[in-house]
Amino acid sequence: MDATIKPIRPNKQLESRPAELDPAEFLAAAVRADQPRPARAEAEQAVKTLLAYIGENPHREGLLDTPRRVVEAFDELYQGYHQCPAEVLDRTFGETAGYDDFVLVRDIEFTSQCEHHMMPFYGKAHIAYTPVERVVGLSKLARLTDIFARRLQTQEHLTAQIAAAIDEILKPRGVAVLIEAEHTCMSVRGVAKHGASTFTSRYTGMFRDNPAEQARFLSMVRGLQR
Ligand SMILES: [Zn+2]
Repeated sequence: MDATIKPIRPNKQLESRPAELDPAEFLAAAVRADQPRPARAEAEQAVKTLLAYIGENPHREGLLDTPRRVVEAFDELYQGYHQCPAEVLDRTFGETAGYDDFVLVRDIEFTSQCEHHMMPFYGKAHIAYTPVERVVGLSKLARLTDIFARRLQTQEHLTAQIAAAIDEILKPRGVAVLIEAEHTCMSVRGVAKHGASTFTSRYTGMFRDNPAEQARFLSMVRGLQR
């Protein structure tokens, strides 16, 4: 998967990139006060339209509150658009006592929604970074994963954005991100294959340049697992 993702490095900033791979775009909260959004009533009306489209009667009793519930669920599933990834990583600690190896947080569970079908994909993220002087609270890597996961995503972009955010803000010696996920757009529709896992990875700095570090990261992710 790595090969299909354009590299995100500071020295490539002159290159034009799609917004979803441009840290200047995705590190901020995506919803800004000065951008108009449809009203909640309009969103609920759109759900009613979908109900009628599938052949339902949106006015029958069981469905009366459904548009409201769907929009509320959207508020929750897509709250990442209102959150700022950069803020999550801005509190760092300097007391590393000379720690010079990578820090790995494994098995960060997440649920995201695929941007092609708006159907859930879910799984685990494994994130490692090698700090330079400053470290970040470990729960912050899970928070960062959630912010990006609670937006419409492809698994490839989710992987790349987590790595790029850590790279941009913490400026570590390297970042490694491995994500394994099951896509419901593949398990309950389309080819309908249950249990198929998709793996994506992203390496920067020392992890990208040193295959031995990649191998050590992968063996720590896999070795002690399950
Ligand atoms: Zn999909």
